[in-house]
Amino acid sequence: MQEFTRKTFLPFSLPGIDEKDISGVIEVLKSGWITTGPKCDAFEKAFAAYVGAPHACALTSATAGMHLVLLALGLKPGDEVITSSMTWVSTVNMIELCGARPVFVDIDRSTLMITADRIAPLISKRTRAMVPVHYAGAPADMDPIRELAKKHNIVLIEDAAHAAGTEYKGQRVGKTGLSIFSFHPIKNMTTGEGGMVVSEDQELVDRVRRLKFHGLAKDAWQRYSRKGSVVMEVTEPGFKYNLTDIQASLGLTQLEKLDRFNERRKELVAIYDELFKSVEEVRPIGRPAYPHKHTHHLYIVQVDIDRAGMSRDEFVDQLKARNIGVGIHFRAAHLHEYYAKQGRYPRGSLPETERASDRIMSLPLFPGMTANDVRDVVLAIKDVVRAGRTP
Ligand SMILES: *Cc1c(COP(=O)(O)O)cnc(C)c1O
Repeated sequence: MQEFTRKTFLPFSLPGIDEKDISGVIEVLKSGWITTGPKCDAFEKAFAAYVGAPHACALTSATAGMHLVLLALGLKPGDEVITSSMTWVSTVNMIELCGARPVFVDIDRSTLMITADRIAPLISKRTRAMVPVHYAGAPADMDPIRELAKKHNIVLIEDAAHAAGTEYKGQRVGKTGLSIFSFHPIKNMTTGEGGMVVSEDQELVDRVRRLKFHGLAKDAWQRYSRKGSVVMEVTEPGFKYNLTDIQASLGLTQLEKLDRFNERRKELVAIYDELFKSVEEVRPIGRPAYPHKHTHHLYIVQVDIDRAGMSRDEFVDQLKARNIGVGIHFRAAHLHEYYAKQGRYPRGSLPETERASDRIMSLPLFPGMTANDVRDVVLAIKDVVRAGRTP
């Protein structure tokens, strides 16, 4: 018997858009320059300054960033890229589309992240890159991973889609190395759609900049302005992955709010943590023991499917019936039809990833939520557990 239902649907995520975001976009629309231009330039500089990196290139998505970074590495068929299967499948798609092979590392049961000791045995002569994921707002344990990369001369690409503002041992993700951020609407800040490649490596960022816009030289966007030259040269074939100034304007005003957004997420998480002390069937995932600043991109819990007496998918349906929105981050990449059919990673090959993939769900968490919303989520979870026990 269902006893608890909210009157209105609580979405799992909502972007935090205010009047300043809106008036900024309107200003760009009225300015006469709406595609890549001065706002994009300013957004790249502001974001690079925020993370403390010297170079940044804005793109249409983090997926586009991953595509171009992998292409810039010049991957050949047979090359291997080590990553987690507990990630958004776009990373794996991009590895595949570059003709390389994804090699999956199983994850830590508590944090759901890959670790250097699990990566080490999978390094081969064909390994060209590794893509650790900073998961749910926590940083991966980078020191030992960086050491491994250096020792074997492997390129390290940090998937920082969840990590805008995250710190590892006192340093912001993105400050060193090569990181890719996402500004999809569910992320901690948004441009509608968008991404950013951030790196110390100027040559690489310049290459990404050319590849994102037809393979044209650096300031190609200026070709219709007074300053630009109308004569442009393609130096290599490229894509059309440039962010517009409409989006970049959102990026600038959202970035101003990012620290406040992340603080609010932290407050909401403290309420969740307290309330989950009295729930045994559904438990939050672990947080790293090393020094870090978590930005709580997602509040992920695992359903104890034996104790709850139902599958995670049934649990999610029951929560939705109680007007609580839920996400799944993620269904393991290797279990998606295309990758499963390849047969390289059959079920059973990545036990911890599969265990999590079958049990995790992401609960509503966004800056505009109230403490009462958090209470409603936990009340609904307790109600699902109670109803599941009633024969
Ligand atoms: C969202 C996400 C991406 C992709 O970001 P897009 O901007 O949507 O392309 C990549 N990796 C992870 C872990 C993500 O959550």
